[in-house]
Amino acid sequence: MNGIAPRRPPRHLPKFSTDSVHGHDYYDVETRAFKVPLYLSSVFEHPDRRTGEARKSDRGFEQKYSREENPTVRGLEKVVAKLEGVNEALAFNSGMASIAAAYLSTLSSGDTMVITKESYGTTQDLALNLSKFGIKTVLAGPETKDFIEKIKPGVVLVVVETITNPLVRVVDIPAITKRCKEVGAKLVVDNTFATPLLYQPLKHGAWLSLHSLTKYMGGHNDFVGGVLSLDDPVDLVELWEFRRRLGSIIGAFEAFLALRGLATLKVRFELQCRNALALAEFLEGNPKVESVHYPGLKSSPYHKVAGRILGGELYGGVLSFKVKGGRKEALSVLRKIKVVKPSPSLGGTESLLNYPLTSASKTLSPAVRRDLGIGENLLRLAVGLEDLEDLEEDLGQALG
Ligand code: PLP
Repeated sequence: MNGIAPRRPPRHLPKFSTDSVHGHDYYDVETRAFKVPLYLSSVFEHPDRRTGEARKSDRGFEQKYSREENPTVRGLEKVVAKLEGVNEALAFNSGMASIAAAYLSTLSSGDTMVITKESYGTTQDLALNLSKFGIKTVLAGPETKDFIEKIKPGVVLVVVETITNPLVRVVDIPAITKRCKEVGAKLVVDNTFATPLLYQPLKHGAWLSLHSLTKYMGGHNDFVGGVLSLDDPVDLVELWEFRRRLGSIIGAFEAFLALRGLATLKVRFELQCRNALALAEFLEGNPKVESVHYPGLKSSPYHKVAGRILGGELYGGVLSFKVKGGRKEALSVLRKIKVVKPSPSLGGTESLLNYPLTSASKTLSPAVRRDLGIGENLLRLAVGLEDLEDLEEDLGQALG
């Protein structure tokens, strides 16, 4: 069940792997190179000596300075746009920078945004901080019904995560999308945990899809980056201008690494999802474990909705579990693991075990954490690319 059996691509994504390898469309007629080169140049000839005109990138923005547009970054953006099934993408120097651009380009003083209560801590922290500019943030969820009730007429922006963190809940995004359309709110889907292999938000009516490239898209735990994908050409200009003003474009080297990572996204992520399910089942059978949270488990209250939204075969590479006991017992597992590393991120080659109370959920208020069930005995496991047997043995001995 956990081998990398050759699989045909999902029927709705026939070109996913080909696009992840070739989607940049790069070809240099002089050198015949077909891999996107690393353009470390910060400056480009401007204006064009022959014509006297401003030189433009393929999508019509001025190509003169790498804080604005860079050819390596363009290669990355083209691949991401194809994988998300949309027209355009903009890459940023972190997932948070992409979220900041989405907030700032959309919201004005007096506006209200609705954001999932179980969102990445800093996404929520930044939203709440915008109150100093007169922007109101309403926390909603974590379940679909409450989320939809909070999306009232007049709400400008709604932010939801495909799979939440750390309790890996899956809300009914199609129902939330429908409600956003009814009230005219723009919907941002943080698709980091699902990747476009499991969900393509814009195909289902969202306004923006965003990723921390740091996670599965980059896939090797070796750089930080973010990306927004969208269809609307007017909003593209607005977001591009914010990226330029904020100086938050991804660096060319990081874009190069992201391109390299994306080429193997499907094989990596499929294996991580399969091993996550196997490990969730393994942990369910461990007497030291109180509960396991993973939408791929038949026992999960989110199994049905996740199956409908994510395609019914793969359920992500992150799971969480509560150990019997409290903080002491949870931290003891973190101390004892050897193959798995204690660390906050996810989506890379190394399996990482994380204590949400001191990382992703640290900035959530105690009331929100209580409401969500993020307690002292909770651990989150992000599955990497090691052998399944080694991961089972490591977790088994650490719990032992
Ligand atoms: N969104 C999610 C779901 C995340 O988990 C994270 C980081 O952990 C971010 C956004 C922020 O991304 P970055 O760390 O690349 O700024």
